[in-house]
Amino acid sequence: MTSDNVIESDEMKVRTICCGYDNFSYLVICKATGEAAVIDPTEAYPVWREVEASGVRLVAALCTHHHNDHIAGLEDLLAEQPGLAVYGFENEALRIAHLTRQLKDGDSLTIGKLSGRALHTPGHTTGSICYLFGDRLFTGDTLFGGGCGRLFEGTAEQMYVSLNNVIGALPDDTLLYFGHEYTEQNLRFAAQVEQSNREITRRLEGVQQAKISGRHSTPSSLGTEKATNPFLRCKSDAIRKPFSEAGSTASGAEIFSLLRTMRNSFKG
Ligand SMILES: [Zn+2]
Repeated sequence: MTSDNVIESDEMKVRTICCGYDNFSYLVICKATGEAAVIDPTEAYPVWREVEASGVRLVAALCTHHHNDHIAGLEDLLAEQPGLAVYGFENEALRIAHLTRQLKDGDSLTIGKLSGRALHTPGHTTGSICYLFGDRLFTGDTLFGGGCGRLFEGTAEQMYVSLNNVIGALPDDTLLYFGHEYTEQNLRFAAQVEQSNREITRRLEGVQQAKISGRHSTPSSLGTEKATNPFLRCKSDAIRKPFSEAGSTASGAEIFSLLRTMRNSFKG
């Protein structure tokens, strides 16, 4: 790590760009070629400012889903960079204007010499995808720090599988870059669901301290999420206990659905 908003490996640099009210866009930079992709161009100006400050050449926009707060900057970025490639899921061509490449689950893509892969993760929307580059996963509104996106189009079963079987199958040290700064509120909910989980308390305190220092909570790691994010812990004894005491034989997806409904009305 070289500064607050840059995480660097031998091949790749990721810059976090704060946009809108609480959105995150990201620049994925190939260090060998100086080419870069923006994940979810919420706004053009902050992204372009970062492109110029970094001295990189923006070659692609990678859209995790069609919601306007993730793609609203596309039009203006294309005005700056007319040849920009625009990626999204295959069924999103009518909902993401300017899409030039439609991805299926597992499709690979390259940015400079970096290899990436699209993972179809329906639930928040039917066409939501995450982008995996090495040990970095860009999750859009599928997984947030300590939580997950609302079910606008998909089913609870789909989201449960996306979070636990698709994202959850990656190595625990995978870094997760999410689309919004909702972590503190999510962890307040997590702490209410699992009152004896000290990992949640510790993480919440860390996020609150970071906020006071003006730092954001992205990225987290999959290991951290597995320890503190209730939506990845539906099969844990602590979360299952109240349901099993009531004699419930609820599946992981059914418990997920109950938690998601509780989270929708959580005001803490
Ligand atoms: Zn969304």
